[in-house]
Amino acid sequence: MLIKTLLNKVERYKSFVYGSVCVMLVGGTEALVIDIEPRCNSRPICPECGKPGTIYDRQPQRLYEYLPLWSFKAFFRYVPRRVKCPEHGVKVESLPWAYGKERTTISYQVFLARWAKRLSWQETARIFETSWDTVFRAVQFVVDYGLAHRSLEDVTEIGVDEVAVFRGHKYLTLVYQVNAGARRLLWSGPERKAKTLLQFFKEFGPERSAKLQFVCSDMWAAYLKVIAKKAPQALNVLDRFHIMRKFNEAIDEIRRSEVKQFKVDGQQNVLERKRWLLLKRSENLSEKQTASMRELLKLNLASIKGYLLREDFQRFWEYQRYDFAEKFLENWVTRTLQTDLEPMKKVAKMLRKHKPLILNWFKAKGAISSGAVEGMNLKVKLTMRKAYGFRTLKCLQIALYHELGKLPEPEYLHRFC
Ligand SMILES: [Zn+2]
Repeated sequence: MLIKTLLNKVERYKSFVYGSVCVMLVGGTEALVIDIEPRCNSRPICPECGKPGTIYDRQPQRLYEYLPLWSFKAFFRYVPRRVKCPEHGVKVESLPWAYGKERTTISYQVFLARWAKRLSWQETARIFETSWDTVFRAVQFVVDYGLAHRSLEDVTEIGVDEVAVFRGHKYLTLVYQVNAGARRLLWSGPERKAKTLLQFFKEFGPERSAKLQFVCSDMWAAYLKVIAKKAPQALNVLDRFHIMRKFNEAIDEIRRSEVKQFKVDGQQNVLERKRWLLLKRSENLSEKQTASMRELLKLNLASIKGYLLREDFQRFWEYQRYDFAEKFLENWVTRTLQTDLEPMKKVAKMLRKHKPLILNWFKAKGAISSGAVEGMNLKVKLTMRKAYGFRTLKCLQIALYHELGKLPEPEYLHRFC
C-alpha cells in the first residue's frame, strides 16, 4: 500500500491507477512488480493523433522497467489495449510512462541518461544491471526530446569546427554556439564537405542564419564558401585556435623530416621525445622543460627555427589596432617566405591568402572570446575519449549532443540522480 502512495506522489497518471504490488521473479531475480490499470470508463489514446478512441482488443501483458527501489528492480505491469481510431485505424494505445515499443519507462530512461552523462555508458549499464543498449536508447530518447524542445533563439555567434573520428579516417563537422554564457553544441554532421555545412544552414533556417553576427571557422575552403553564401552579413573570423593549429602541424612536419634525416646521417636524435616541447607555448613550459628548451635553442635545427617563427607570430594576437596587426602580418609572412622551411612557408602563404578573414579577428575584438571554440573542441575530445563502445558515428553524435548540447530534459520529479 505504501508503495502506491509513494508512486502517486512522484508519478501520477490521470487515466490510470496503480493496482497491487508484489515481489516476483523477473529474469531470474526477485523484483517488485506494480500493476497498473486504466481508470473505469477511460478510453485508450491513439498514438498518432492523441485523441481517445474505442477499445479494439487487448495485447499480452507487458513489463516496463521502472527505477530500482532499495535493492529491487522494479517493473510496471500492464495489459496494453489496442485503440480503434477513426482516422488512424487500429494501434497500440499511447501510454504516459513509456514511448512506443520501449520497455523502459521514461522516468528510468531519464535516470539512466543522467548517470550516463557522468559515467561511461558501459559503467552505467554495469552499475544498474542493464544492457549497454538500454543505456544507449535512454540517452537517445533524452537527446531526441531535447533537440525537439530546445530553443534556438538568440544564437548570434557560432563556431564551425571539425574533428577526426575513428582513427582519423572520418571527420565530423561540429557547429557550436559561442555566445558568452551560452556555449553549447548546436549541430553535428558527418564529413567536412560543403554539403555538410549546407545541411546545417538548411536545418538552422534562413531567418536564424540572418541573425548571425559572427562565425568562427578555420581556413577550410568548403566551410568558407558556405559561410559566405549562407550568412553573408556575419563577420567570418578565422580564429586563433584554428590558425595556431596550422602552425603546430607545420612544426610537427619539420620535426618528423628532421628526425628522419638524423637517422639517414647516423646522427644522434636530439629531438627524441621533444614533440610536446615544440608544440607547447613557451610560457606554458615547466621549469624542467624550459631548461630542455634552452639546450635545444643552442642547436641550429629547422624545428627550432619553425618554433621561433611561431612564438614570434603570437605577438600578432596582442595588437589592438587593425592596421598595426596587418603590418605585422605582412612583415612576418615576408620574413617566413625567405626561409627554407617549406611547411612554414605554406602557412605563410595561407595566412596571406586569408588575410582579410584573419584580420576580422581585430574587427570583432572583444566581441568574441578566443577560447570559445577551443574550449568546445577540448570537451568534444574528452567525450570521445570517454566514448568506449561508440562504434558508430550515430552513437558518437548522440553522446556529443547529450554532453555538450545543454538540452532541456523531459519533466522529471525524481531526485538522487
Ligand atoms: Zn488517431
